[in-house]
Amino acid sequence: MLERDSSQEPPSEWAGSLTPSAAEAAIARITGATPLERLIALREVVPGKIVFTTSFGIEDQAISHFILANRLKIEVATLDTGRLFPETYETWARTEEKYGVRIRSFHPDPGALSAMIHDAGVNGFYYSKEARLGCCHVRKVEPLNRALAGARGWVTGLRADQSANRASLELVSVDAERGLLKLNPLIDWTRDAALAHAQAHQVPLNWLHGEGFLSIGCAPCTRAIAPGESERAGRWWWEDDGKKECGLHHRRSAPVES
Ligand code: SF4
Repeated sequence: MLERDSSQEPPSEWAGSLTPSAAEAAIARITGATPLERLIALREVVPGKIVFTTSFGIEDQAISHFILANRLKIEVATLDTGRLFPETYETWARTEEKYGVRIRSFHPDPGALSAMIHDAGVNGFYYSKEARLGCCHVRKVEPLNRALAGARGWVTGLRADQSANRASLELVSVDAERGLLKLNPLIDWTRDAALAHAQAHQVPLNWLHGEGFLSIGCAPCTRAIAPGESERAGRWWWEDDGKKECGLHHRRSAPVES
């Protein structure tokens, strides 16, 4: 088991905010053929807080295993929207049991949630794109902002082959607004590779994956897909604009795909 020490002195360029030169230097050092090597490199290069946000899908579970089994000093956090499947909560609990950890959860602001439901209705997301994005903002984006507050690094389970929308992903990118580096350590993995890794290490997996749910989000906004459909076809399936994301990975000044 690898032991990592995050107490090392940060590169001097990181003394203040993340400058373009500091980002460039850090990105050049974050290399590696495997996700674990990439995570270790991120931990060595980035000072301070690094957060991995998980929704307990296959890719996220593979990354959780890399972090938790190797005790990397990367915080594992999740966004509890309040509308998740029971099977997702069960996967969350089994993950905590397997690794003996508590995964930090972030929840919608009660006042904003109440106002949003009052305005749009409890299932208003079905009736307009604006209401759907509003719900995603209250339940996901704003809690994500709290999860990443003060972080210098952000790890996600995005893969380049998940959708055409994600084909241009980079291994490491800059989130200029948040002042952090974003790492996608599974960028070049396939879904099958992530599944094989998780199964080889007895990582808890969401039972819904076996019932045709490939990409799992909130229960009212996720359905199983039919053979031949794209991996993310079951997300917000009533929308047909071909770029169906929840806003977690979009920034106004530096859009980065989810
Ligand atoms: S996925 Fe659906 S229920 Fe979940 S936050 Fe977005 S609109 Fe709301």
